[in-house]
Amino acid sequence: MPKIYLTYLSYLKKIKALASQIKREVKLMTLCGTHSQTIAQYNLKSILPTNIRLKAGPGCPICVTSVQDIDNLVKLSLAGIPLAIYGDAWQLAGSEMSLEKAKAQGADVAIIYSVEEALSLSRWKKNLVFFGVGFETTAPMTAWAVKKGLTVYSSHKLFPPAMGALLNSGELKIDGFINPGHVSSIIGLKTYQKFKIPQVVAGFKQEDVLIAIRMLLKQIIESRKEVENEYRRLVKPEGNPQALNLIKEVFEIQPAHWRGLGIIPASGLEIKKKFSQGDAKRKYQDILKKQDKSNFSKPSACQCSAVLRGLKEPQECPLFKKVCAPENPQGPCMVSIEGTCYIDCALTLL
Ligand code: SF4
Repeated sequence: MPKIYLTYLSYLKKIKALASQIKREVKLMTLCGTHSQTIAQYNLKSILPTNIRLKAGPGCPICVTSVQDIDNLVKLSLAGIPLAIYGDAWQLAGSEMSLEKAKAQGADVAIIYSVEEALSLSRWKKNLVFFGVGFETTAPMTAWAVKKGLTVYSSHKLFPPAMGALLNSGELKIDGFINPGHVSSIIGLKTYQKFKIPQVVAGFKQEDVLIAIRMLLKQIIESRKEVENEYRRLVKPEGNPQALNLIKEVFEIQPAHWRGLGIIPASGLEIKKKFSQGDAKRKYQDILKKQDKSNFSKPSACQCSAVLRGLKEPQECPLFKKVCAPENPQGPCMVSIEGTCYIDCALTLL
């Protein structure tokens, strides 16, 4: 038998031995879309002991982007401001339309693959606005681009406040978090220590996830509530001070609206006044303050709000794979390749 399978089986054996010592259901939450992809790709949920449940949390930045932000971007684009966005945001619905639909109405919306590409585009596309979205992982590059002269509509968010909001809500009893590897490579480990719950920062290979599960089960059995680092090959305890300094220099922390989770204090990154020439929200405030219909969005059967909080599985949504699929997304979790519904749907279509 190839060595990789033997290693894999030995991880599973250890997990099974630990799980058998815990005489109840254990809920572990993944906080990163890439972890959810690994779990789905290797069908890890199906091979774990039956008392170990993996839940996906709000780890997809596109999925938690507010309706208001999409409405604002639609307004800018329909007012003639060219936009550069990541492909994941293309179909994300606002209260009236997505950017895809705005483009169909004549808006200039370009899909780019990196912030550097947006910066080059801005050199010949006058007034171009880049849609800055993502957690601590992507915010440093956006900060760098603002300093280089790019105009940005910031929807960047900080991840740990969302973990705090989930824990404080008390809606879901979570026994442990598999913390996001990419975010942790920037912020390090210290920020997580305030959450009194077992946590393991993990990499993205199947063995990383299995080792993280094993480490969490061990913490639960030993009644420890620590932050452990399985992803030492990338994540340093202090994070990436250079990237953190860039965030600190360009952004200020403000409350932010998370789709599905509501307003979370001190979780948003807005561009500081000092860089107002690169802040689309200040530059185009006249366009943005026009009345919109964000508060009048139509009721929908979409269960994303519960899916993002780990309260429901995509399969519990009446629209899943019936009307809602990657080619016809009805909610944000089906739009992005990191969305829980997209991942579950794409996996079962294979
Ligand atoms: Fe929303 Fe579609 Fe997921 Fe249902 S299946 S929760 S409609 S994204």
